[in-house]
Amino acid sequence: MSRIAGRNHLYVPGPTNTPERILRAMVVPQEDHRSPKFPELALSVLADLKKVFKTTEGTIFTFPASGTGMWEAALTNTLSPGDKVLCSRFGQFSHLWADMAQRLGFEVQVLDVEWGTGVPYDQYEEILRADKEHKIKAVLACQNETTTGVSSDIAKVRKAMNNANHPALLMVDTVSSLVSIDFRMDEWGVDCTVSGSQKGFMLPAGMGILGMSPKALKAMETATSRRCYFDIGDMMRNNATGYFPYTPSIPMLYGMREALNTIFEEGLENIFARHEYLANGVRAAVQEGWKLNLCAKAPEWYSNTVSAILVPEGFDAAKVISNAYNKYNLSLGAGLSKVAGKVFRIGHLGDLNALSLMSAIAGAEMSMLDNGINVTPGSGVAAASTYWRTNAPQAK
Ligand code: PLP
Repeated sequence: MSRIAGRNHLYVPGPTNTPERILRAMVVPQEDHRSPKFPELALSVLADLKKVFKTTEGTIFTFPASGTGMWEAALTNTLSPGDKVLCSRFGQFSHLWADMAQRLGFEVQVLDVEWGTGVPYDQYEEILRADKEHKIKAVLACQNETTTGVSSDIAKVRKAMNNANHPALLMVDTVSSLVSIDFRMDEWGVDCTVSGSQKGFMLPAGMGILGMSPKALKAMETATSRRCYFDIGDMMRNNATGYFPYTPSIPMLYGMREALNTIFEEGLENIFARHEYLANGVRAAVQEGWKLNLCAKAPEWYSNTVSAILVPEGFDAAKVISNAYNKYNLSLGAGLSKVAGKVFRIGHLGDLNALSLMSAIAGAEMSMLDNGINVTPGSGVAAASTYWRTNAPQAK
């Protein structure tokens, strides 16, 4: 394939675009990760990550891994073989976490709910109320299902658990939501928060990030699941003095330091407002401009980080995506699993603004037209621009 000139327009829902200043911060010579100076960097990153998780009580760990590794770390550090886990499945990622829990030897109760909806709060409450002997040890929830562009309300999951007066650990996947959609680890009583570097943090993939509450750390003392590389005990002992039990990726730590600086300069609440504003513009393009449907069934499920857009019956979304890439150098997110060929996704998270995101809307529209999909030329761009021109958030 010959070179396509110009920048690739990267609008998959992770990895996201990395700002130049973060890329530059990662270009560093190798250094001794056991030097007396090294803890300065490590300790500042670990302390500042707490602000992003909105926790003062919890402890944050980073591993050379991705989000998938943190699913495993959360489960194996807190549970014992045969422990019962409650979860719900409504997309490829909630499916994969449930599947992992099964493969690791836990007894998993999976609630299959319609794709396009999210965590079934009432059903969780009902099941937890009925579990009088407290056999369920962990409740899993995916805050943002990236496959379908569906966000769930974690405060409602906590409420369901409290209403049932149930002591299970609450584990939340925030891989495609942290730093983009509000998340409050302490306030919502989340015990294990799973995340990764390549989405809201605007970094390359390669750093798994895990938040553990005091209750989760206590559970670790009696949890007998086999674990080694992801053992939090080893990590905690080393982190206490600013070191790691093995060689960390030093460029990733410098990158994370700069990502945190970037995040705090904009302000977390401003970042959430920006993501909502940008997402609303995309939804205006889809619904008012193109007259198409989102995979998310109702506004309560709409995600501010990714929109999965259903193409009309008889058309292949995979062709819209490949044509966009080959002809316009635009990367759109693929339809995964059950929705393969039915949706294309626009990732609207990380380092982006209205005009950069407009390239995804314009390109998706051009590619749909190339594929014979009957959208009015310019309609998506017009609807997004009308929204964005009149609704820019005020910085706080
Ligand atoms: N959970 C969600 C919601 C995701 O979107 C992803 C990846 O896209 C994962 C988990 C898996 O994370 P990773 O690919 O970093 O292992």
